[in-house]
Amino acid sequence: MDSADLEFDRRHIWHPYTSMSHPLPCYPVTAARGCELILADGKRLIDGMSSWWAAIHGYNHPQLNQAVERQMADMSHVMFGGITHPSAVALCRHLVAITPEALECVFLADSGSVAVEVAMKMALQYWQARGEKRQRFLTLSRGYHGDTFAAMSVCDPHNSMHSLYQGYLPQHLFAPAPGCAFGETWNDGDIAAFGDLLTQHQREIAAVILEPVVQGAGGMRFYHPRYLQRVREYCDRCGILLIADEIATGFGRTGKLFACEHAEITPDILCLGKALTGGYMTLSATLTTRRVAETISNGEAGCFMHGPTFMGNPLACAAAVASMELLAENRWQDQVAEIERQLRRQLLPLNEHPQVREARVLGAIGVVETRSPVNMAQLQRFFVDRGVWIRPFGHLIYLMPPYIISPEQLTALTQAVADALNHPGHFRT
Ligand SMILES: *Cc1c(COP(=O)(O)O)cnc(C)c1O
Repeated sequence: MDSADLEFDRRHIWHPYTSMSHPLPCYPVTAARGCELILADGKRLIDGMSSWWAAIHGYNHPQLNQAVERQMADMSHVMFGGITHPSAVALCRHLVAITPEALECVFLADSGSVAVEVAMKMALQYWQARGEKRQRFLTLSRGYHGDTFAAMSVCDPHNSMHSLYQGYLPQHLFAPAPGCAFGETWNDGDIAAFGDLLTQHQREIAAVILEPVVQGAGGMRFYHPRYLQRVREYCDRCGILLIADEIATGFGRTGKLFACEHAEITPDILCLGKALTGGYMTLSATLTTRRVAETISNGEAGCFMHGPTFMGNPLACAAAVASMELLAENRWQDQVAEIERQLRRQLLPLNEHPQVREARVLGAIGVVETRSPVNMAQLQRFFVDRGVWIRPFGHLIYLMPPYIISPEQLTALTQAVADALNHPGHFRT
């Protein structure tokens, strides 16, 4: 890539959440291997992001490559209507086996947001089939569930600027974000506002939707698993469905294979994405119980009303099967535990730094919440100069490296974060 390519990119290509009038610089990556991104000029960056929770086994993994190559030699894609194929069956077998027992019906979709759309449509069709008009969702403030409209309608209203779409977005119910942090002593008052909202609106609510234990893009906060148990109890008592969005937390990131395991609860509907294919391709899955699936299927439509063109794409399924096989070797548990110990040792002392509001760690997630918002362009340049890829936003500098990262590589990441705090120019006042 030369400077003309970069100039073309600036003028013509949208990146996530960017401006066409004032684009921030983009760094050209031409290859990625293991835990490193390789820039066009040959510079190597240690990856602290796993490409947004996804590349858990690292980049260019021989087993994942081979799985995709083999699948490609057979077929890259075939429609899923009236047709099935070995990679989809193998993947869904894995998913049914590793998720809670009651979740046995799988819908494969294209992206995390679509998995959330699918989950919400399942809940609406479930109540429609039961002859009750229930069309509202109860969720938590500071949540994030994706960028499509239904998913966005249950994202934090302030963070996702619901004001822009006023009159168009459905109005759902938002409980305050959980206050009791993971590892703190549980205070049952923390669930009170949620309980009140649910009780007041119980006949309108189709489902509760939330991110279990870790609120990701809405603030990188870790809350008490007891909160989730109490939510499950409320939902059971009122017959309201519980949708767990594990698109970010799924596949080991929090130290458990699924974050719901911290609370030992089973949701009625589970959304998976991001790391599902080991970060190779976009693919997501929405799982539900036999009971919910049967209710939907015996409703007015006689089926679940959704079917994307690229549903069950064989290349993506093959990558996902290979990723499941790597996870089944069970090295992830020690890897994540080791990353957690090192992150605690190296990031938690930053709690003493004047620029830091809070440093916190759970599983292979390390977060430094700063007092002032970051100056993204400057801080990004600093990290690239330091040979690391860390993408801060708002008040958050955070790490979620591939599970295969070495202790030395992880030290390079945490050291860069610590040093970044000492430059006033990296923050806005
Ligand atoms: C990223 C994310 C989504 C959306 O997934 P996309 O693949 O970006 O559409 C939904 N929910 C959670 C919790 C996420 O982290």
